[in-house]
Amino acid sequence: MREAVHAMKSAYAPYSGYCVGAALECADGTVYTGCNIENASYTPTVCGERVAFFKAVSEGKRDFVRIAIAGGKGAVVEGIFPPCGVCRQVMSEFCRSDFEVLLIKNEEPLEYEDHTLAELLPYRFSPDHLR
Ligand code: ZN
Repeated sequence: MREAVHAMKSAYAPYSGYCVGAALECADGTVYTGCNIENASYTPTVCGERVAFFKAVSEGKRDFVRIAIAGGKGAVVEGIFPPCGVCRQVMSEFCRSDFEVLLIKNEEPLEYEDHTLAELLPYRFSPDHLR
C-alpha cells in the first residue's frame, strides 16, 4: 500500500489534477507500480491500475494476488478511488474472483477497504467465455 501511495507522485495529470497510484503484487512476490497518465486529447489517457498490469504482463507476469490503489488531488490521498470499469475488466482477464483489491482511504494513519474482484465486478465477462 505504501508503494501505491508513492506511485501517485509519478502521475501525469495536468488536466484533472487527480493523481492515482497502484501497486500490483504478483504471486512470486514482485510488485509493479503504475500511475495515471493523461493526454491532451483525453482518449489516450490511461489509469494507474492498467499501467501496473501492463508493466507486469509485459515482463511475463500472469499470476496476481492483489492490487493496492490510492488516489487524490495533487498526489494527496483523499478517500477511496475505486477502479473504473475498464480497469476492472482488465483485472478480469488475468485474475481469479478472489483477487484482492485494496482501496486506500487514508495515508496516516493507514486506512483501507479490502474487496475482491468478484465484489467489484459481479457476473464478469472473462476468458472462460471464449473457451
Ligand atoms: Zn481505470
